[in-house]
Amino acid sequence: MEHAPNLLPPEKVPAPRTDFAVGVLALQGSFWEHEVMLRKIGVAVREVRRAEDLEGLSGLIIPGGESTTIGKLAVEFGLLEPLREFGKSHAIWGTCAGAIFLSKDARRRQPLLGLMNITVERNAFGRQIASFEVDIPVPALKAVAPDDDRPFHAIFIRAPLIETVTPPAEVLATLEDGRIVAAQQGRLLATAFHPELTDDTRFHRYFLHLAGWKNK
Ligand code: GLN
Repeated sequence: MEHAPNLLPPEKVPAPRTDFAVGVLALQGSFWEHEVMLRKIGVAVREVRRAEDLEGLSGLIIPGGESTTIGKLAVEFGLLEPLREFGKSHAIWGTCAGAIFLSKDARRRQPLLGLMNITVERNAFGRQIASFEVDIPVPALKAVAPDDDRPFHAIFIRAPLIETVTPPAEVLATLEDGRIVAAQQGRLLATAFHPELTDDTRFHRYFLHLAGWKNK
């Protein structure tokens, strides 16, 4: 059979990589920006709305948005237990509202996954500086960018503070005054800020590294 000159014969077309995909919880909030970032890095992405969507994923990002809404929808969609199960053996990264949802205590009654040994204070920065941007050092990012010494440009939008981090969770980044804005517990990651709103892919690559991604 003849083939157009620029097309590979069907038997030579490389199979799409099906061994690694990450999900983005797409109930509410800024899930799209995470998807754009992951595609830019070259990773297969799936939007997660039901428990079946978690099947075969290597990790999951829970975006920023409104943590009470994300929590309520997760309950409604029957996702609370499946997400807790998933988090026992897979990487999960929560940004902002997602970090609140991962925590074990947010000082109010709202559905939480309780997967990470962190407590948070919602909207901790008050009205005046509800949103701000600041460069912070994140030494852990060296794992994916050994030659890059730049601080990370952290964008905070009605952000929570991570009030306490108890082992096995550990502090990943703080503001200059010591207030905690990122934490890690094994494959679980929480950031009070929004790396998906920058064009710096280091945080996403760090998460992918926790999820077992080998960039071939
Ligand atoms: N203030 C929101 C909350 O408490 C979080 C804001 C965000 O995700 N950008 O859930």
